[in-house]
Amino acid sequence: MERVLQFDEALKIVLQEAGSLVKPNQTETLPLLDCLGRVLAEPVAADRDQPPFDRSTRDGYAVRATEVSDGRSLKVLGPVRAGEQWMGGSLVEGEAIEIMTGAPVPSGADSVVMLEHVEAGEGSIRLQIGRSVQTGENIVAKGSEARAGDVLLTPGTKMEAAEIALTAACGRSVLKIFAKPKIAIVATGDELVELDEIPELWEIRNSNSYGIAALVTEAGGVAERLAIAQDRRQEIRESIAQGRMSDLLVLSGGVSMGKYDLVEEVLAEFGAEFFFTGVRMQPGKPVVFGWLPKRDDHKECYFFGLPGNPVSTQVTFHCFVSPMVRALAGSVVGGPRVVQAWLSEDVAGKTGLTRILPARLNSNGLRAEVRLVGWQGSGDLAANSRANCYAVLPPDGRNLAAGELITILLR
Ligand code: AMP
Ligand code: MG
Repeated sequence: MERVLQFDEALKIVLQEAGSLVKPNQTETLPLLDCLGRVLAEPVAADRDQPPFDRSTRDGYAVRATEVSDGRSLKVLGPVRAGEQWMGGSLVEGEAIEIMTGAPVPSGADSVVMLEHVEAGEGSIRLQIGRSVQTGENIVAKGSEARAGDVLLTPGTKMEAAEIALTAACGRSVLKIFAKPKIAIVATGDELVELDEIPELWEIRNSNSYGIAALVTEAGGVAERLAIAQDRRQEIRESIAQGRMSDLLVLSGGVSMGKYDLVEEVLAEFGAEFFFTGVRMQPGKPVVFGWLPKRDDHKECYFFGLPGNPVSTQVTFHCFVSPMVRALAGSVVGGPRVVQAWLSEDVAGKTGLTRILPARLNSNGLRAEVRLVGWQGSGDLAANSRANCYAVLPPDGRNLAAGELITILLR
């Protein structure tokens, strides 16, 4: 049964299925820095107010805003530095306390005037003419970033540098994170040889297993590269039987219309349900997504059949497999990473297919500009490497002009 969808419909189905997954049931507890790139399995809460005191954001003088704005000369006490607390009692009328960035604002003061904005006299300061100070200026109030007990990171958050820093600020040195999902990779094709073999003229190195494994790793999974399966039912059967024991099965090749493209047939023998058997996209049209329901003593297992042409493989992985791997890793479900950039050349349209073409994103100052990379089609891994993103060209077939804003898929 053929089921060829528009790109948007196919993506919606993948994200729906990804959204239906329950969180991984296995977790690990690791030192904070080992959690970088992993997915949080427990909440991280503030252990105290942040900031824990009214904090000065400037070097200057703690004052009362109305007093200093009146142009009065204030007597200077202090200083109070970061890492200490003013012990000289509450600020009273006519006083200012010299204060450093990061120091707690003494009680009685309601603002900090910047050093650069005062005229300093002998033991006194006065605001420069024409300046005023607002209540609260240059102070971050106690608890304004977070209150003690507030949950700041929820399970499913990917731990990047920002999250590591926040967790450290909460005093946590070990964290519970989700175990990585296992992703089985099966390359199919009679023409394929492994890296340690010398290919005959007509043979092709199995680069896909490596490309897919790298993408799996980046998406937060553990790649399990299985042996190459020749284009024979029995070999493909054995590979699927082995691969379905993992959390996700990714096959490459054998999903086109050719006589030896047997992957879908063999999956069907296993009772596969197909969500789609093709997507109106270029490259990547033959991509297949489905699942093997729970049967006998096997658990259910999602699978993707990716087209064998290596650029098609990579593009379809970014679009469809990556969101699924990230969801299996326990991440909050999200689609492919897309942003907008300005096209720096005209591009002729082509109807019916969403085109996702190797492209190069460059920053022209702060302007993100993108141009297509010349390529020989979906087998051209060299062109794919000269690219650093993919330009997403809509299926309406409209010609695009230089200077238009278009969507790009990051990788
Ligand atoms: P297929 O999708 O099986 O029709 O494969 C299309 C083309 O992709 C083949 O002719 C090969 O040149 C190439 N190809 C298939 N599988 C791989 C692989 N594992 N690694 C590199 N290239 C591949
Ligand atoms: Mg093939």
